[in-house]
Amino acid sequence: MQYRFSGRVAGMQSSVIRDILKLAQGSDLLSFAGGLPDAKLFPVLAIREAAARVLTDRPADALQYGPTEGDRQLREWLCGQAAAKGTGATPDETLLTTGSQQALDLAVRALTEPGDAVLVENPTYLAALQLFGAYGLTVIPVASDERGPLPDDTKRLIQEKRPRLLYGVPTFGNPTGRTWSAERRTAIIRLCAAEGVPILEDDPYSALRFAEEEREPSLFSLAGSCKGSPVVYLGTFSKMVAPGLRTGWAMGDAEVIRMMAKAKQASDLHSSALDQRIIVQLLRDFPLEDYLRDVSREYGRRMNLMQRELASHRIEGLRWEEPRGGMFLWLTLPEALDAEALLRATLRKGVAFVPGAPFFAGVPEKNTARLNFTGMDDERTVAGIGLLAEAISEFLAR
Ligand code: PMP
Repeated sequence: MQYRFSGRVAGMQSSVIRDILKLAQGSDLLSFAGGLPDAKLFPVLAIREAAARVLTDRPADALQYGPTEGDRQLREWLCGQAAAKGTGATPDETLLTTGSQQALDLAVRALTEPGDAVLVENPTYLAALQLFGAYGLTVIPVASDERGPLPDDTKRLIQEKRPRLLYGVPTFGNPTGRTWSAERRTAIIRLCAAEGVPILEDDPYSALRFAEEEREPSLFSLAGSCKGSPVVYLGTFSKMVAPGLRTGWAMGDAEVIRMMAKAKQASDLHSSALDQRIIVQLLRDFPLEDYLRDVSREYGRRMNLMQRELASHRIEGLRWEEPRGGMFLWLTLPEALDAEALLRATLRKGVAFVPGAPFFAGVPEKNTARLNFTGMDDERTVAGIGLLAEAISEFLAR
């Protein structure tokens, strides 16, 4: 049998990160490469109790087929959260999905045709770039800095390229850890609203905020209400509870949500009702906010440790941006250093990280790298940064 595969799938690049993680599997590699929350911090006991309650009290709700839109109570809880942050949303403006990755996929399916242009903050989430590529979209990078996409460039590109959407991770982004400033948020919303360009606000990390401080409002909440909003908000319990529960959501204009639900129906009927019921039970019995404060504080501590270690090696030309939340630290290496060549050298020393190039749409900055600081204990982090610094110094001495 000779199979003929679709260009859409056959042409997809396998993720560099996955390839690196495959290398790391089973070995004792010190890895800054993954994007995983620390499994030791999962609220296992509370999840176990929630699952037992769900299966004891109302097993049919968790085990029977359910509506495509997902569990009503969970959607109501999400609407309550949105209301507390200033946006009125109803369950009809909310769709539960299999992780926010599926929400992204459904939004793209609902809002684009092959050949359309999409604008992205640059650099950006690798799996979003892969998805856009798979759907035959032309990805157009918007010039971006530490405070987010540049409004002038966004405006020029909207007018020249007539994109079908703009995608970004405005809070504690992946891969950069960056957070768009309040002014940029307002400017981007205004531009997109005026030009009729939907914004996909991908927001998996905002609950992981290291310090109690004033929060930037989400683009979604700045836009006010769902009806007629340019913003489609994508959220997830992956970093708030556990990614294995595969529960995410989309919120936005009811028409967009309805279209996404139609696409979802053909794809998987609905997401796991059991996972959704476990989350509903957990939200009743478990102090999620306290838990998130503790986990965020711990991740902030690990980020500070990583920064201290990086600084202690005094490598000229090595810079990074200090994230205020999330899971990643974005490194800029000395100018002449190619992060992929450096990776080959660090792998020989037993250390992995992700080179920055694949996260760029358009011309990559090859001297960049993403380091994850949530996955390892202090001892391994210190050892890993030491070996990484050693490898950089060896390159510079050549
Ligand atoms: N968006 C971004 C920016 C991410 O980093 C991730 C997780 N790596 C996702 C979406 C998908 O997360 P999930 O499907 O687990 O909700």
